[in-house]
Amino acid sequence: MFRRFFRRNSPPRFSYQRLIAEIATALPAFPGRWILFCDHPLDRSDRLRLKPGDRVATGGKLVPFIDSPAYVIAPATGVITAIEPFLGDFGRRLTRIDLRTDGPETIDPGFTEAAAEVSIETLRAWAGDLPGGLDPTALTPPDQPIETLLVSAVEADLLSVSAQYVLKTRTDAVRQGIEILRQVTGAKRVILAVGRESFQGLGGHLHAEIRAVSGIYPASAPALMVKELLGRQVPAGAPLAKLGLAVVSVEAAASLGRSFAEKRLALEKIVTVVDRDGRRSLVTVRVGTPVAEIFEALGIRLGAGDRLIAGGPMAGACLFTDDHPVRPDTHCLLVQDPAAVTHCSSDPCINCGECVRICPTHVPINMLVRLLETGKYDIAADEYDLWSCVDCGLCSYVCPARIPIFQYIRLAKHELALRQVAETENV
Ligand code: SF4
Ligand code: SF4
Repeated sequence: MFRRFFRRNSPPRFSYQRLIAEIATALPAFPGRWILFCDHPLDRSDRLRLKPGDRVATGGKLVPFIDSPAYVIAPATGVITAIEPFLGDFGRRLTRIDLRTDGPETIDPGFTEAAAEVSIETLRAWAGDLPGGLDPTALTPPDQPIETLLVSAVEADLLSVSAQYVLKTRTDAVRQGIEILRQVTGAKRVILAVGRESFQGLGGHLHAEIRAVSGIYPASAPALMVKELLGRQVPAGAPLAKLGLAVVSVEAAASLGRSFAEKRLALEKIVTVVDRDGRRSLVTVRVGTPVAEIFEALGIRLGAGDRLIAGGPMAGACLFTDDHPVRPDTHCLLVQDPAAVTHCSSDPCINCGECVRICPTHVPINMLVRLLETGKYDIAADEYDLWSCVDCGLCSYVCPARIPIFQYIRLAKHELALRQVAETENV
């Protein structure tokens, strides 16, 4: 398992895990129940278009609200059993939809018809929930065409090997996805970014430049990858689209390729599961599968004090229950034994500088954290480089005072983004 350590004179370096020879286990396709999160708040029940008891078909597009285009894709054929408000990270208001498998599987024909046309409109209408996490709006920004597309096969966090597995086992789908991405974005240049250790054996049939990136975390952070591969500095806080760039995960590319090739939405996701002993498993499950079902299939039982993390040890998010679904971007699930859990403290900063030394973007964190602790987010952004942070979590990991720096940073960015939205709406 992952352990904290220090070397005073040089910051620790963390290598990404390597895929050895694992084979992903396909868990039963119909665990019986499913959980979906729609990125829209459930404020008023009279705005709902769906209700418990409604039937859904596999791959069907569920648009829960009459006044919002927000949608989720049904991972199975069955019945809606509940629709409820759900509070996500930082108070983000979502809508939770529970399904129960019921009857023989039927495939919704909607995407089959839509797939006849490969266009950004089709992607916007259908690909928002694809395994791998695709943001179709980032592919065609309004004021700047995408010139270079990076397809990242580098893991999003430590301990995960999901991206490497996708690249190794779904090569044809990745190639097809790259063609589709090239077509809808018009990108002149497509680069497949892989870890140095995965570089060998990849041929030109992927129809992309294949470039190796550092095997040291957090090389997969988009801004760092752009700097390493293209030699371009991403200005702090600037969306990549403003520079004519987009980054897509290799799994999203594979899901896209497979969906259009088969004219049926891809639903299966590769997830790396690491239990409290450090045992690693790879599973194939549909998006929406409850974490509890995966753990039951793998014989993992959560004990008192265990910490459950979705994403990875550095930048992942704690889940407070296993009654939570695999989402399109859930690459890794991690169970930490209570003995390995590092608890945050309210101790003050001792100005040791460990955080500054390890930060890949040289944020003056020892100064920044003082502002974040007191909610002075504007000064943090204007004078102490908050937006240069690439969300790697390394500063929290090395802080001997156990200050939850990364959580402060995420909260600050969230609050500033909310303010920006409010200001835009009031103009
Ligand atoms: S401030 Fe912390 S989370 Fe942000 S890039 Fe630096 S080390 Fe990573
Ligand atoms: S925030 Fe933590 S790591 Fe950074 S200087 Fe203070 S005590 Fe050291």
